[in-house]
Amino acid sequence: MTKIVSISNQKGGVGKTTTAVNLSAALADGGKKTLLVDCDPQANATTATGIDKPSLKYSLYHGLIGEAPLEEIICDTDTKNLKIVPSHVELIGFEVEMMSSRGREEILKRLLQTSGDEFDYIIIDCPPSLSLLTLNALTAADSVLIPLQTEFFALEGLGQLLETIKRIKQSFNPGLKIEGILMTMFDKRTNLARQVVQDAETYFRDMLFKAKIPRNIKLGEAPSFGMPVIAYDRSSAGSQSYLSLAQEMIKK
Ligand code: ADP
Ligand code: MG
Repeated sequence: MTKIVSISNQKGGVGKTTTAVNLSAALADGGKKTLLVDCDPQANATTATGIDKPSLKYSLYHGLIGEAPLEEIICDTDTKNLKIVPSHVELIGFEVEMMSSRGREEILKRLLQTSGDEFDYIIIDCPPSLSLLTLNALTAADSVLIPLQTEFFALEGLGQLLETIKRIKQSFNPGLKIEGILMTMFDKRTNLARQVVQDAETYFRDMLFKAKIPRNIKLGEAPSFGMPVIAYDRSSAGSQSYLSLAQEMIKK
């Protein structure tokens, strides 16, 4: 059975793409056949996995508008067991073109269903908005993983996201679960970060992943080399944290 996990938070810069890329690579490293779906027109996850965008014939956009089957869009990456559905800036057009079509929220779900049981995990990187693309991701997903930046305003906007998830459950995807909340860019040297984590632990309890992602320079550098961090520097704290997160998810 394929498990589909959407990485969502309508805030930008909280670590969605970093988590989508590196969690996918860590799951693949653990022997799980993994498909990363880049659902953000900014295509950062596509770049971060070393895909040469100009050479692509198709992107997610073509799959969503029915111009290409999934198998022709999926690309191999340099990481064993990890494939990707690349994005492209043209994906912006999907929002506009599909806004008034019937069943517009389940176009991605239907596309991903055509993968049969080829993958153990499908990880979806969402754009920083509660747009039609995010709605599609949450409708296609079995669960949602919410990255929260470990900072004072982390919880701001979370209510809106949880409300959206509730509404999607009611209308489109009754089985949608919360996979967990992930603290990102954690700097254990600051009192503030420790306080935010303490608050989150009190507030979210079991919903919070034990793994926390530290602020780590290697995580910032790896994308510019087109590599997940475990390929770039496996011994780094960033690598180890995503490997722990993957193991935590696999054991769930
Ligand atoms: P989002 O997808 O939510 O917009 P990103 O994953 O792109 O967020 O992260 C925003 C920026 O912060 C990127 O430049 C990324 O490289 C950097 N970054 C993300 N997580 C970390 C981390 N744990 N340590 C250091 N830099 C990080
Ligand atoms: Mg992103």
